[in-house]
Amino acid sequence: MKHIAMIGAGISGLMSALELLEQGCSVSIFDQQQSGQAASWAGGGILSPMYPWRYPAAVNVLAQSAKTEYLRWNAKLQPDTGIDFQIHETGMLIFDESDFDIGLNFAELFQQPMQQAEHLHSTELHQLNPHISAQFQQAIYFPQLANVRNPRLLQSILCYLKQHPRVQLFEHCPIERLELHGQQVRAIVDQTGQRYQADDYVLTTGAWSARWAEQLDVQIPVRPVHGQMVLFKTPENWLPTMCMNQVMYLIPRQDGHIVCGSSMAEQGFDTRLNADTTANILEASYAMVPALKDLPIIKQWAGLRPGSPDGGIPYIGLMPEFDNLWANFGHFRNGLCMAPASARLLRQLLLGQPPDVSPEAYSPARLQRAALAS
Ligand SMILES: Cc1cc2nc3c(=O)[nH]c(=O)nc-3n(C[C@H](O)[C@H](O)[C@H](O)COP(=O)(O)OP(=O)(O)OC[C@H]3O[C@@H](n4cnc5c(N)ncnc54)[C@H](O)[C@@H]3O)c2cc1C
Repeated sequence: MKHIAMIGAGISGLMSALELLEQGCSVSIFDQQQSGQAASWAGGGILSPMYPWRYPAAVNVLAQSAKTEYLRWNAKLQPDTGIDFQIHETGMLIFDESDFDIGLNFAELFQQPMQQAEHLHSTELHQLNPHISAQFQQAIYFPQLANVRNPRLLQSILCYLKQHPRVQLFEHCPIERLELHGQQVRAIVDQTGQRYQADDYVLTTGAWSARWAEQLDVQIPVRPVHGQMVLFKTPENWLPTMCMNQVMYLIPRQDGHIVCGSSMAEQGFDTRLNADTTANILEASYAMVPALKDLPIIKQWAGLRPGSPDGGIPYIGLMPEFDNLWANFGHFRNGLCMAPASARLLRQLLLGQPPDVSPEAYSPARLQRAALAS
């Protein structure tokens, strides 16, 4: 069976590793820092694109099975890891009235049963979620939407992989170079000059993926997009639903933590917090749920999304002009919810199995040759 090298241990790399292991492959996973500490840790874990009608069908196709897939993986991994990564089925309220019509019809129009929605008037709304501000007299409610506790998800997968006899994990091991020979990668080389060989190699390097452009002579239009978060601690099960208004959200975890965000800024690989952004997040959070003002903020952080064009359609498949170099990167705002289906598609393409979804939309053939682009 094949031996695969995965460069990048975020959710894209880790889920891809799981899929390949299930098929009997062996996997070596490399990360430049501690595994699972980049965007996949920083994200909110909503298992749906925010306002899915604002995204291309190719994004929704990969996202639609997220809840089912994570429920399955949680059941599979938990006996070995003892970690429940908590798929919290809270549903989601959206208050943006201009999205009501499309939101209510989206499930049917685009065959997305997870996105069934209902229109709630004031009494029903405040009964369902008593903490919602009185300024909102109606909302649309998506009862099937859920969130995953993503830091625990990563912890769980890593715990499973570390025990697995066909996995080798190399942390704090930045891969500097691909050793190329014609259409083949022969080895990957770390910063100390150490070479590692495999049959196939997968780039799962998230926001850092453009670093391969020069060596591969293609344009890779993936850039880091800074997103900031604020974490509140409330009593357990205090906020019954996720909430969304004007692209800001509140995500309750089972134990009462509420993740609030987010922002979008392009400032390279700088992950420092911005005080104005924090103020915006707090203003938006208090506008939805005023009682949060009296509850403690316990943490803030920022992460780097792998921003990509075309509404964030990821690159999944064989890299142009290569036989054994694969991509699974560029998931932008939806990498957690697209991860299980992205990893499955990668595995199916890499092992020559019939894909569940049509792969064309994700093909790295979209990447332009550097010479042609200039
Ligand atoms: C604030 C915020 C909120 C978000 N909310 C959501 C949400 O609610 N739902 C959702 O679906 N998505 C959300 N996202 C998006 C999601 O987090 C990302 O799309 C996803 O995590 C990308 O995963 P990844 O594995 O591709 O990248 P990452 O998790 O960033 O992993 C890439 C890894 O590659 C490693 N690496 C890079 N270069 C090298 C190299 N040369 N050698 C070795 N290792 C290397 C990095 O160290 C890193 O660990 C959010 C993101 C942010 C920042």
